[in-house]
Amino acid sequence: MGKKMSAQSHESVGVVERLTEQNQRLAEEVKRRIDQLAAINSVATVVGQSLDLEVTLQSALSAVMDVINVEATGISLIDGENKELVLRAQRGWKRDFVKMGMRIPMGHGLSWYVIENDELVVTGDVSQDPRIKHQAFQEEGIQAQALAPMHARGRVIGILSALSYEQYIFTEEELSVLCAIADQVGVALDNACLFSDVVSNENHLRAILDCTADIILAVDMDYNVCSFNHAAESFFGLEAGHVIGCQFEQIRLPEPLVRGLSEATQRQDRTSLAFEFNCEGPAGDHVLSSSISPVLDAGGMSQGWVAVMGDITHLHALDQLKTQVIQTAAHDLRSPLAAIRGAISLLHDAFGKPDEKQEKVFRVAFDGLSQTQQLIDNLLNIERIESGLVIDQHVELGRLAKRVMEDQRVAAARREQKLEVDISTRLPMIYGSDIWLERAIANYVGNAIKYTPHGGTIRLVVWREKGEVLLEVEDNGPGIPLEAQNRLFERFYRVPQSAENDMMQGSGLGLAIVKLVIAQHGGRVYVRSQPGKGSTFGFALPTIP
Ligand code: ADP
Repeated sequence: MGKKMSAQSHESVGVVERLTEQNQRLAEEVKRRIDQLAAINSVATVVGQSLDLEVTLQSALSAVMDVINVEATGISLIDGENKELVLRAQRGWKRDFVKMGMRIPMGHGLSWYVIENDELVVTGDVSQDPRIKHQAFQEEGIQAQALAPMHARGRVIGILSALSYEQYIFTEEELSVLCAIADQVGVALDNACLFSDVVSNENHLRAILDCTADIILAVDMDYNVCSFNHAAESFFGLEAGHVIGCQFEQIRLPEPLVRGLSEATQRQDRTSLAFEFNCEGPAGDHVLSSSISPVLDAGGMSQGWVAVMGDITHLHALDQLKTQVIQTAAHDLRSPLAAIRGAISLLHDAFGKPDEKQEKVFRVAFDGLSQTQQLIDNLLNIERIESGLVIDQHVELGRLAKRVMEDQRVAAARREQKLEVDISTRLPMIYGSDIWLERAIANYVGNAIKYTPHGGTIRLVVWREKGEVLLEVEDNGPGIPLEAQNRLFERFYRVPQSAENDMMQGSGLGLAIVKLVIAQHGGRVYVRSQPGKGSTFGFALPTIP
């Protein structure tokens, strides 16, 4: 009985021991699994928080070393531009292959096999392996390695490797952990690469903006300044660091620029605005030619506005000089021109009844004389306006506008054009010169009729807004390219290579006269136009306070 008992208790002890051993093994296994999961988790946390490529690479290497019992690990990424696989980070290797620049051309060796087949590859000793193309790597003395493809956005972007200098058999779990880490890191590395591309593109763009001589200022959809280049800093005497993020209206910018930005940002039709303005700059008075355009993304959504300004002070000085020379010539031409007109008239009378051919020759001569006379008159007008207009009358702009439209009705009817007038009631008075303001309006309307094709519509609008009376003449003619809009009000400027200009005669002085007249009244001129859609010429005059 005693013997039986002792045999039984022996057996029980054996069972208990086996169970304890099994339990221990299970506990160890569970612990290893937990360690592996923790390692994957910690990689996920670290790489998910960082957009820094180096940090992401290093945390992936640490994770591999933590969970797989090997001496070395490495990460290679595909360089799509050069079609190569480049070793970007390593740990535990005998030689520094990153510094040496380990690059494997597309399609070569074991690494590209892993990429092209999207397959985990495990090998033993690789010193004699013909699939290893890199001589130096063959000499490294690797006895076992596992290469796992890294994925992002549905494609392989590189390889995560675990390397052993001694013979080593990777367990199933180790290999699946390697693959799990490879995928975690793949997405994070892809994000980090995209981010670093964005940063380097932004730096590149900033360098371009800072190198250009044009003054560039951009505002976002909340009217905050988001770009202010070097030229803007030195011209306005403001530091980018102080203005970026501020509302443009709160910055010490020239008043016409602030007004232009306000107007451009209020435009529903998202057209560009071009204008010139005088302002104080680093070398005294400057003239800036400015265009403000909406910034649209690839999908056509508004992102903000950009103002580009060029310093055209020297062009203005040249312009002035040119006008002076031509004005002197105009003075000198007045008498001989009158003499020629008199002589041709006498000759015409002497012919009595000229035949059709002779009459045609006379008409060509008289037309040429009229054009020259008009040019001389305009040049002398400019001189007269510049020497100062008498601005002492109370003017009703609406009344003048109506009169101009009546006077132009015949010209418009000849081209079968529709004239529309929309004048606000109870417009405030302005100080001015009746005759010159009427000429300015007539010029806008005359141009609209001249450059708009047959059957078009010309609309004149006058209204009051914030201490100003505004007048606009809108047509549905050919429109004007943006690069020409800035120059329209320059003397002798005519839009180059425009079919309308080839057909229509002109001197390019009309708009220059309008600008001078309006400037003498303390106002401003502007144009909005979209090629193919028409143009709107306008001016704003201050009301009597
Ligand atoms: P001109 O008409 O004598 O050429 P302006 O100074 O009046 O001179 O106009 C300058 C240029 O502006 C014109 O040559 C023409 O190219 C362009 N322009 C003016 N008004 C319009 C308009 N309503 N539509 C299209 N182009 C215009």
